[in-house]
Amino acid sequence: MSTRPIYLDCHATTPVDERVVAAMLPYFTERFGNPSSISHVYGWEAEAAVKQTREILATAINATPEEIVFTSGATEANNLAIKGVAEAYFQKGQHIITVATEHSAVLDPCKYLKTLGFEITILPVQKDGLIDLTKLEKAFRPETILVSVMAANNEIGVLQALAEIGEMCRDRNIIFHTDAAQAIGKIPLDVQAMKIDLMSLTAHKVYGPKGIGALYVRRRNPRVQLAPQQHGGGHERGMRSGTLYTPQIVGFGKAVEIALAEQTIENQCLTELRQRLRSQLSQLEGIHLNGHPTQRLAGNLNISVEGVDGAALLLGLQPVMAVSSGSACSSATTAPSHVLTALGHSEKLAYASVRFGIGRFNTLEEIDIVAKHAIATIQSLRKQTTLVGTGD
Ligand SMILES: *Cc1c(COP(=O)(O)O)cnc(C)c1O
Repeated sequence: MSTRPIYLDCHATTPVDERVVAAMLPYFTERFGNPSSISHVYGWEAEAAVKQTREILATAINATPEEIVFTSGATEANNLAIKGVAEAYFQKGQHIITVATEHSAVLDPCKYLKTLGFEITILPVQKDGLIDLTKLEKAFRPETILVSVMAANNEIGVLQALAEIGEMCRDRNIIFHTDAAQAIGKIPLDVQAMKIDLMSLTAHKVYGPKGIGALYVRRRNPRVQLAPQQHGGGHERGMRSGTLYTPQIVGFGKAVEIALAEQTIENQCLTELRQRLRSQLSQLEGIHLNGHPTQRLAGNLNISVEGVDGAALLLGLQPVMAVSSGSACSSATTAPSHVLTALGHSEKLAYASVRFGIGRFNTLEEIDIVAKHAIATIQSLRKQTTLVGTGD
């Protein structure tokens, strides 16, 4: 264990909290029933467990339990929201607005809809990663049916102004979807106050298991219609067929329950760790913070480093820390991150970026080790570059 790098990639996924694992275990063995079985106790106890998670999630975002639709994660929730609205409302209009820094699980369904004839406006972001609301204002058309803007960015941690965007959409009768995969349990979310109509959630970014998520679907004021994307036994009020995965659902509920109970204190701890890392790295020249300085997730620190090669930087950091770089996270491509280029960075600077995703189980000692090694790596790379004479 001691030779494994320090895990600082909590925007990619998080370890499952032991308390979550303990809550899940009985649902693999004794309480293995199908929540749809209505004629015996095995089904009833599974159904009760599912109901409990629905209530926890609903409370977490100020919704009602009937408005929670379980999915396999945020990717599926985003697909269901975007394609489901497009299919249900195409007679009303065929224009959708989203943002350049969205996750591919939002951008790619939009691209797909474009091939079917929908028009997609992709809003740029400002240098700090926030959208300019006057640009959103100008993008609205009579035929706009959906606006999709994420709650918290998975690369730079920026928190978009959900309440303002929700207000603008509601005034125009346009459905507002938010991808809250990185936000659930970490920042306060309120679908009423923020006028959100659809919200994608996932468990594995908040110390829950992988393979489970949910879509909040507003049922009142206004009621949102969705065309199902998976047909079958009519589970989840017809919006998502398939036998519910009880152990994962139990784990999702427990993870969110813990995150909410510990949110304030956890955010204080994470902020302290992030500030410590940031201030140590700031001893060096030419380190840029990516994303708004304060309107961001507590555990996110994303920096671009001048005067180093991105690949060499990652290679130098890897033995000591598990972090992500500024290349697109899909391993199949080597393009620079679309989020960092949207901030206006050159390709070279986008590549030379590091995302530190600090989480619940990181310690002060780990942060100090990471800072020390990162500084030494950057200094040594810069020295080499100067010697070879290819620096800029
Ligand atoms: C991780 C992530 C997703 C994908 O979630 P899965 O549950 O892994 O499908 C979508 N959006 C954002 C912002 C994410 O961070």
